[in-house]
Amino acid sequence: MRFVAKQPKEGINVSDTHPLVEASTLVVGLTAIFVVIVLAIIFMIEVALFFVSAEDEANLFGDWLPEDLITVAPDDDRLVEIQLLVDRLARHWPDSPYTFRVEIDDSETANAMALPGGLIIVTRGLLDRVESENELAFVLGHELGHFKNRDHLRALGRGIVLAMFFAVVTDSDVAGIGIKATDITIRGFSRRQETNADEFGLAVVNSEYGHVDEAWRLFERWEVENDSVINLVTYLSTHPESGDRIIDMKRQAEAEGWLLTGDVTPLNW
Ligand SMILES: [Zn+2]
Repeated sequence: MRFVAKQPKEGINVSDTHPLVEASTLVVGLTAIFVVIVLAIIFMIEVALFFVSAEDEANLFGDWLPEDLITVAPDDDRLVEIQLLVDRLARHWPDSPYTFRVEIDDSETANAMALPGGLIIVTRGLLDRVESENELAFVLGHELGHFKNRDHLRALGRGIVLAMFFAVVTDSDVAGIGIKATDITIRGFSRRQETNADEFGLAVVNSEYGHVDEAWRLFERWEVENDSVINLVTYLSTHPESGDRIIDMKRQAEAEGWLLTGDVTPLNW
């Protein structure tokens, strides 16, 4: 018998399922995979953080500075004053594993951030805008709150946290991990983390001054300036709406029975 090659049937590669059904299956499947990957990353960071204690972190990053930081002159008066203020505020968190270090980022934009190892960076733009020590104390207290809740490490991202984890496990140093301040600031924190940091910051301010007067006055001014001052964009992109924060802080102060007025300390510069 002779073999006669037959043409395959028309449409052999076409599925019986409707294309829209197939497309939606694909979308649902990809979304599910994406969600699983994100959850896995969050889980890995949480696990790594469990191994990287705050003490380890403080040791690893004891004298580290981000690669992209441009600091002001080391003899800038404000640097000395802010460091003294942070030291005073940190006394209200007696079991803190960190030795806090302050650096001033020589930038016009207004921002403050908490970085690994107890490093607090405030920008020149922020310092130009605070009008009393009490205002500044709240901003610094808020950053202390991020350290307390270790938000600053969660914001670092998977790669860096895992690299830290291996540095701890293998007892090596973290010099090889290129961390930029901008990497961390663009990620920002969740609303919940910000609220917790505000609560901690306000408690610190109340312990230090015996009242919370002017703790949120900076935000009150910003609420008015909001649209006109382009330089605020950085702080506002990484922190919640000023108005919401003020409402929450007033509520907290009232619930705790803290004094809303008191002697305001002027800045030393
Ligand atoms: Zn914050």
